Amino acid sequence: MDVAAERIERLHDLARAAAADDEHDRARYYVRLARRVAERNRLTLPRTFRRFICDRCDAYLRPGRNARVRLQDGHVVITCDCGAHTRYPYGDQ
Ligand SMILES: [Zn+2]
Repeated sequence: MDVAAERIERLHDLARAAAADDEHDRARYYVRLARRVAERNRLTLPRTFRRFICDRCDAYLRPGRNARVRLQDGHVVITCDCGAHTRYPYGDQ
């Protein structure tokens, strides 16, 4: 794993920890940093990370706290508190 990818993983951990403490502004800050690192290094964020980020407001999504999850037509649909939806195929890990 290169340095940028490691940095992104670290920021993912920090964002997750901040969101777990309901520090959503801090979580958002780490999410944005991770996006910037990815952009600068022509990387895409890992799928496991992207799945928990709101595309509209960069919140780190925590189902039951700042996001709702439901199943629809074989898809998992995550709705952020800001109203944006993220969807992906059910069972696609
Ligand atoms: Zn959002």
